[in-house]
Amino acid sequence: MSERILLVEDEEKLARMVELELNYEGYQVEKALDGREGLERALSGEFDLVLLDIMLPGMSGMEVLRRLRKESQVPVIMLTARDSVVDKVSGLDLGADDYVTKPFAIEELLARIRAALRVRGGREDALLCVGPLVMDVERHQVVVKGQEVELTKKEFDLLHQLLENKGRVLTRETLLDSVWGFDFVGETNSVDVYIRFLRSKLDEAFGVKLIHTVRGVGYVIRENDT
Ligand code: CA
Repeated sequence: MSERILLVEDEEKLARMVELELNYEGYQVEKALDGREGLERALSGEFDLVLLDIMLPGMSGMEVLRRLRKESQVPVIMLTARDSVVDKVSGLDLGADDYVTKPFAIEELLARIRAALRVRGGREDALLCVGPLVMDVERHQVVVKGQEVELTKKEFDLLHQLLENKGRVLTRETLLDSVWGFDFVGETNSVDVYIRFLRSKLDEAFGVKLIHTVRGVGYVIRENDT
């Protein structure tokens, strides 16, 4: 049976666009155009996930979330305005599962919906994240800051290995074995070459630092420089 999503959003054009995209992905969608109606519908227990705008007529998204969480643990993804750090922090404090910043790329919203539903369904392993990077393994897709990144097969496989071992340092030999296979014939510096490709497409392109060199040992992917 397809999952049911409640969309609480007063911008009708945006709501219709999101509804169409979600229908296309196989979700059943119902819309509420203001906070009070949204809360009422969300409390009905009929939904697998709630997409909740913050700026709403009737009752703010924050207040809807606060009241909803007294009775329900349904996954909630907040739709926040750009740069509204306060909203994000208080939304997460109040028990939101995640947030998406407007304007968002539909792919990012879909990835976060899948992630929230999977976490509840205990299948979170198909989605690997570090900082602003999300890898959807089943779809062979990598998204950074909401933007899809084109990777070659080898680049994807190498990134996949690093992400599956997030925070753990992997030696060149380990990466060579797991990505290129034991029968690899060629230069052992292939790992370094492909790490360079990944850095240029990810770290440098998006102004982040995810792939770290551990001198004399190998490579590790992690969010912070510590
Ligand atoms: Ca709004």
